[in-house]
Amino acid sequence: MSRPLTPVEVRFWEKVTIGDIPVQHPDLGPCWVWTGFINPNGYGRFYDGRKVGNAHRIGFVLQGGTVAPKEKVLHRCNNPPCIRRLHLRAGTQFENVQDREARFRPKAPDPVAVERLFALGAGERVLRRL
Ligand SMILES: [Zn+2]
Repeated sequence: MSRPLTPVEVRFWEKVTIGDIPVQHPDLGPCWVWTGFINPNGYGRFYDGRKVGNAHRIGFVLQGGTVAPKEKVLHRCNNPPCIRRLHLRAGTQFENVQDREARFRPKAPDPVAVERLFALGAGERVLRRL
């Protein structure tokens, strides 16, 4: 059963536009990008009638998602202003940190570790295994 949008929902959706398809997850389709206020961390902010909150969290719930008070709403598309439910999932802060570390983990070996191996006299054979 559909119902008319509430005034808060209308205000919310007026601030959303279709964005790009995420490079790492093209299977998700385009992001739905927040065009309202964006905080310095890149996340949309929205006043839901009671308080100002993260637009992606509010959007997740407006689209039928459920999130426990202690859970975070995480981006599968790695695009902070995206509010599309398909691109979001509820998870813990621990998972959030793991996601971020996986995303920014350097492909090259740690230069400090390489320096240390050189200092210990390790040859090219050892370094190639890093
Ligand atoms: Zn997205």
